[in-house]
Amino acid sequence: MHQPTDEMLLDYASGALPEPVALAVATHAALCDDSRRRIETMEAVGGSLLDKIEPEAMGEHALDRALAAIEVPAEETPPPAFDAETMALVPAPLRNFIGRNLADVKWRKLSRVVKSAAIPSRVGDYQVRLLHIRAGQPVPTHTHRGMEITVTLKGGYNDGFDNYARGDFQLADPSLEHRPWADPDEDCLCLAVLAAPIRLTGFVGRMIDPFVKL
Ligand code: ZN
Repeated sequence: MHQPTDEMLLDYASGALPEPVALAVATHAALCDDSRRRIETMEAVGGSLLDKIEPEAMGEHALDRALAAIEVPAEETPPPAFDAETMALVPAPLRNFIGRNLADVKWRKLSRVVKSAAIPSRVGDYQVRLLHIRAGQPVPTHTHRGMEITVTLKGGYNDGFDNYARGDFQLADPSLEHRPWADPDEDCLCLAVLAAPIRLTGFVGRMIDPFVKL
């Protein structure tokens, strides 16, 4: 399985990743036993390091201040009930982040082949999207102005370099120009986290780039 680097898993375990990137790692880890075990090990090591810090180091009244700073939720809202398709395809971290069924997500057609659904994120510089690519069809050739993370939820794709299937985590940096093709046997559903808009580089891409933000 394609996994995040240990460095990224460590950043995740220590809470250092921006929320949209953490969402992608959590979504992948829900589908990858090995990444999940690595994260648990890192969290355990981090926790034991924290235990060694002397409580006196916090200073007087620090605990009172810390407790006062914890916001008490006004009311427990029960988690929404999801339908069978959403339960089967969307791992819990992403499901809870989206907060609705796949069938109720607002899709926008980018072409006859690709549709995209924006998921509101509180971190402004990131775009969080679901991408749906028709079986056996390509996404336009593009590069990235920033980091692009793709976690495959259903089906798979090949980007000319490698195959990616359910659970796989792909980090594409700005130097990569690629053209993912969905596998021929079924439609491909992915979570895509972009640190900046992608840039379309193919002929059609150059024609439509000003009007389309994938
Ligand atoms: Zn890409």
